[in-house]
Amino acid sequence: MYTTSRHHVSVRPELESMAEYLPGESLEAFSARTGIPIHCIIKLNSNESPYGPGPSVLKALGDCKNYNHYPDSDATVLRVALSAYTGLEGSHIVLSHGSSELINLLWHIFLSVGDNIICCPPTFLLYTSITSFCGASVIEVPRTTRYEIDVEHILAALTSSTKLIVICSPNNPTGNPIAESDVLALLESGRIVVIDEAYVEFSRRPGGFAHLVPHYPNLVILRSFSKWAGLAGLRIGYGLFPVSIANYILRAQCPFEVNVAGHIAAIETLAHLECVLADVQRIVQERERLFDVLNNQSYLTPYPSQGNFIFARLDDVEVKIEQVRAIVEEHGILLRYFQKPSMRNFLRVTVGLPEHTDKLVEALARVP
Ligand SMILES: *Cc1c(COP(=O)(O)O)cnc(C)c1O
Repeated sequence: MYTTSRHHVSVRPELESMAEYLPGESLEAFSARTGIPIHCIIKLNSNESPYGPGPSVLKALGDCKNYNHYPDSDATVLRVALSAYTGLEGSHIVLSHGSSELINLLWHIFLSVGDNIICCPPTFLLYTSITSFCGASVIEVPRTTRYEIDVEHILAALTSSTKLIVICSPNNPTGNPIAESDVLALLESGRIVVIDEAYVEFSRRPGGFAHLVPHYPNLVILRSFSKWAGLAGLRIGYGLFPVSIANYILRAQCPFEVNVAGHIAAIETLAHLECVLADVQRIVQERERLFDVLNNQSYLTPYPSQGNFIFARLDDVEVKIEQVRAIVEEHGILLRYFQKPSMRNFLRVTVGLPEHTDKLVEALARVP
C-alpha cells in the first residue's frame, strides 16, 4: 500500500516498519474484483449487523436540524443514557469516534518507544499495528488449544516495560469470552488491563466487566455501537475508565470526534433498547443455526461463539481454503480469511440474516 513517496518525505521511522492493519474487504472493492453488483453481495466479513439501525434511529437522523452545529462536547445527554445502560457514573465514560479511536489514544497515552504490550493471539490485529506505530513491541502469549487465555504465561511474560495487557472478550475471531477469575488475576499484576467488549451484547454476560471499573485503577473497558447496534458506518464507541485515565483521554482527544449523527443514533438506540436487543436476539438465534450448518460440513470445525460471528477450521487436507473461498465468492458471499501462516486454514463468518445462512449452505454444498 505504501508508495515510493517515502523516499521524498521524512516520517517517523516507526511508520516505515509499522504492521499494517488490513480491514475486511468493502462491498465496493469486492464488487470491482468479482463483477458482482453491490446489491447482490452478502457481506459476512466484518461482523456488521444485517439489521442496521432501527426505524426510530433513522427517523431521528432524518429529523435533525442541527447538522450545521458542532456536537455537544460534554455529550451530556448521551453520557446520562450510557450511565443508565452501563450502571456507571458519567465520569467513567468517554465517547469516541468508534472504539478504534480509543485504542489509538490509549496506546499513545501509555506507550513510549521501547515499551511493550501483552497480546493473546489469535485476536484483533489493530492492537498490534498501533503498538508498532508507537515504537513499542508486542509480546505474544498465545491462547491455549481451546483459545483460552493463558494467565500463567501472561504473568510470566511481563517485563518492567509492559504497560498494557489487552484482551478481547468475546474474542475476535475465536468467539470465546475471558473468565472473571482471569480478569481479576490480570488486574493483580498492576498493569493496565484493557478488555475490548465490542461483542459483549451478543454474549451470555451482556453487562461484561463494567461493574469492576469503579473498583480498579487499572481496568479499561472498550465498547462500540458498531456491531450490536448496527452503527458501524457512523463510527461511535465509548470506553469505561478509571476517572484519572478518562481525564487523560479527554485531554489527548481532538475536539468533536463524535459527530452529531453519531450522538443522535446512539441516544435513540438507547432510548429504544428493546428494539435493538430484539435484533441482537435474532442474531444470537441465527448464530446457533449457523453453527450447526458449519458443523454439518465434513471438512469444517466451527468453534462455539458468543459474538456475532463464528470461527471455523478447515480440516480436510483434500479441500483447500482457496477452493472454498472461490466457490463461496462465486455465490456473492464475502467471508473473512486470514493472512498469517498459522491461520491460513481458518475462516470467520459473520452471522447474517436467515436467508444469508441459506445461501451459504447452498455454496458450501458445492465444495467437492
Ligand atoms: C469491530 C471491532 C471493534 C470496533 O471498532 P469500532 O471502531 O468501534 O467500529 C473493536 N474491537 C474489535 C475486536 C472489533 O472486532
